[in-house]
Amino acid sequence: MTDKKIYLDHAATTAVRKEVLDVMLPFFTEHFGNPMSVHSFGRDVAKYVERSRESIAENLGAEPKEIFFTGSGTEADNWALRGYALANTKKGRHIITSSIEHHAVLHTCEYLEKEGFEVTYLPVDSEGFVDPKELEKAIRPDTILVSIMHANNEIGTIQPIAELGSICRDKKIAFHVDAVQSTGVLPINLAELPVDMLSLSGHKFYGPKGIGALYVKKGIRLKPIIYGGGQERGLRAGTHNHVGIIGLAKALELAVAEQKDYVAKLTKLRDLLIDGLINNIPQIRLNGPYGDRRLPGNVNVSIQYIEGEGMLLHLDMLGIAASSGSACTSGSLDPSHVLLAIGLSHEIAHGSLRLSLGRENTEEDINQVLDVLPKIVANLRAMSPLYHG
Ligand SMILES: *Cc1c(COP(=O)(O)O)cnc(C)c1O
Repeated sequence: MTDKKIYLDHAATTAVRKEVLDVMLPFFTEHFGNPMSVHSFGRDVAKYVERSRESIAENLGAEPKEIFFTGSGTEADNWALRGYALANTKKGRHIITSSIEHHAVLHTCEYLEKEGFEVTYLPVDSEGFVDPKELEKAIRPDTILVSIMHANNEIGTIQPIAELGSICRDKKIAFHVDAVQSTGVLPINLAELPVDMLSLSGHKFYGPKGIGALYVKKGIRLKPIIYGGGQERGLRAGTHNHVGIIGLAKALELAVAEQKDYVAKLTKLRDLLIDGLINNIPQIRLNGPYGDRRLPGNVNVSIQYIEGEGMLLHLDMLGIAASSGSACTSGSLDPSHVLLAIGLSHEIAHGSLRLSLGRENTEEDINQVLDVLPKIVANLRAMSPLYHG
């Protein structure tokens, strides 16, 4: 037993990298001006904000003018859906999304339904994939917008966004992608992908919290959802979080530069963990797909006859941080909407555990989990009235 803590909840958030922190620090103190000010303090900061925008655009295959800063991935999702819907009501009031989106998308859709829009929630298959044929079938003459996530935050399913996007493009329907889990991990080239809007968030790839961005393709019209000053060309008011913006750009630069090695490392650890769990725990199932259509750092399993929360608490006592679903839904007792959508019963969904890997994890971490988790499961099952091992 070691005293080292093991963090396996990178899908919830990541620590700011040292290299990112270092470029941010002078902007709290020396470079503090408001980038909207005309004096030298403001111009100084504005220059760095624009350089960051250029760098982010370059790393995504976009134009700097197509990048808008937001306060979070949640805000980017809210803005893409609400902002586009409100600006395009003349074309129609029908929106299509999937049943496994993040709540930032799903709850915005629920709000839009109350505002008189109609939303179709596409089903997914047992691994969490949206079928492009289902999308085609759901499109109506009054469909204005489709929103499908790139990679799922709970079960790691990577959607065929190029294929889904080209269906939308053929029908002249706007396509929004929540890429909060995939940014920095999966290649994203917006010069080639048929995507009109894309959301990302700094704290999911070793940047700071409280900063996100929305890519908005040239020609796409959005209404603002936050009113005030004239920042972001009048479309997103509020003094720039310039420290966050600088950190976001640096985090993305590093992630893109190191992507190949990072993905290779995570994939190896992920498969070691998946295989070890499957082989050492009876009556366990992997949620989401195997192989390269799964996010490299994502492991999600359901273990029959026990509660995910019980496993979490026991792992936490041993210094291992995991999640029983998404961080947003844990704390409530409802099983995850994603696990129900892939066809799990409430009972099985309750016994689910997400382990999401990241930069600091090592093979020893994985071996540690494989050492303790089967024992935790056996102990919990011994106390479970449902289990007759
Ligand atoms: C984390 C997450 C969000 C929300 O981003 P925040 O910056 O934390 O608000 C949205 N979508 C997905 C898929 C996420 O994983």
